[in-house]
Amino acid sequence: MTENRVAIYLRLSKEDIDKKDFSESIQNQRRMLLQKVQEEGWSIFDIYIDEDYSGIDRERPAFLRMLKDCEQGKIDIVLCKSQSRFSRDLEIIEQYIHNKFKEWNVRFISLIDHADTSVEENKKSRQINALMNEWYLEDSSMNIRKTLRNKKEAGLFTGSFAPFGYQKKDKNHLEIDPIASKYVQQIYALYVKGYGYSKIKQYLNHQQVPTPSQYKKEIGSKYYGPSTGNSWSEKTIADILKNEVYIGSVVQGKYRKISYKNKKVISLKKKDWIVVPHQHKPIISLPIWNEVQKRIHQKIRIQSKTGKIHELSKKIYCQKCGQSFEKNSSGRTSYSYLVCRDRRNHWQHCDNRASIRLDVIESLVLKEFLKFYHQFADEQLLLQYENQYSIEQNLLCKQACERLENDYHQKERTLKKLYEDYIHQELDDEVFQNLKKSYVKELEQIKNTLTSMKKEKMPFSFRKRKPMISLKVAKSFIQRIQIGNMEHGKRVVIIEWIF
Ligand SMILES: [Zn+2]
Repeated sequence: MTENRVAIYLRLSKEDIDKKDFSESIQNQRRMLLQKVQEEGWSIFDIYIDEDYSGIDRERPAFLRMLKDCEQGKIDIVLCKSQSRFSRDLEIIEQYIHNKFKEWNVRFISLIDHADTSVEENKKSRQINALMNEWYLEDSSMNIRKTLRNKKEAGLFTGSFAPFGYQKKDKNHLEIDPIASKYVQQIYALYVKGYGYSKIKQYLNHQQVPTPSQYKKEIGSKYYGPSTGNSWSEKTIADILKNEVYIGSVVQGKYRKISYKNKKVISLKKKDWIVVPHQHKPIISLPIWNEVQKRIHQKIRIQSKTGKIHELSKKIYCQKCGQSFEKNSSGRTSYSYLVCRDRRNHWQHCDNRASIRLDVIESLVLKEFLKFYHQFADEQLLLQYENQYSIEQNLLCKQACERLENDYHQKERTLKKLYEDYIHQELDDEVFQNLKKSYVKELEQIKNTLTSMKKEKMPFSFRKRKPMISLKVAKSFIQRIQIGNMEHGKRVVIIEWIF
């Protein structure tokens, strides 16, 4: 006979408090679960309470303590108000309710959504509940994001910490920090004077000007942001010189979290940032700002104009003197020309003086590569190539997968809609349960097909199809290219391949 020692689990999250949903209150959950225990004549082992924790959080202290007690065989039944109180994370539901609990002989019961692991046919509905709980979380995280975005678009500063040079006046506004703002002005002044990033860096370090993170520590702010270290870097200086916050704009939305589950952050392109001008007092005057921006862009332009970068750069050499062939900066036509480095710098030691058009070399490389491609098409290299670049064939397979995936999501959305109708009592229980069952089956089938498709390697018809070769692909197989002297209007071009 089982003892029926019960673990009561209660959880309250910020979302619930914000919604002012008192039915979710700890007292309410406790009252409901205690009544159930009493009715069934079970005994209580312990009551576990996590307050202010989200259902997606895996590090809830009471939750972890309860799992440990379950593992140690102290508990026969875990009792919650709903499955979402236990977890809103599908993976956790699978891992514990459907696997570990079975292993540990623990029965899981949630009252309002009628989950009970002692009833076998209950499993599908528990999985669906878990899916719906994730949807709910996604919705609410989308809502939070939307509110935050609205605030940002209205020019309210939503960051936790003010940018260097400013301090927070109240929750959403910035005001000038009298000390740090002087450092910012100094950096701008030095740049206008003609100092480069590296020279400014040396100067600031020599003068022992505190870096942004040092300064935050000095004024006693609890700063968790990216550390700029104890000495100035060129990047920190460049960031300060380009930050529009110093002319009074609030600049936000530079980064985005991947999703509510994945906390990883990606940087957004500048055109997608949210910039709202005239929100606080500027530290830098507009004429100085414009001058600095002009200089920064000039510098970039000069670098790219005289730059030696092209698709085949560092691959092309002079057959005569062995130096590299580089872009010639005297751009008379719209074509790019390459010349021996000796000629470009007017050293006059090498007699290989004629230039060659970059696009001529490029098409030559492609033509030759195609010849080789057919020779090694059956070999190991092909596989390597296939892995490195997605080509047409893979695209076809991908497209088929995408279609299936779309289909899957479409069905999932429909099911979600049905669920919403059901919640709003526009669909009766039996109809919904039947629909749910058929949808779940279809979703499962699609998922299985997708898994097997993705497991398959290269499509069978691969060898018969014409390959799509790009310069980028060809380039990766080039050791180097040698350009010989021009003789009677002809010149030797030697392409050394890796294979
Ligand atoms: Zn040369």
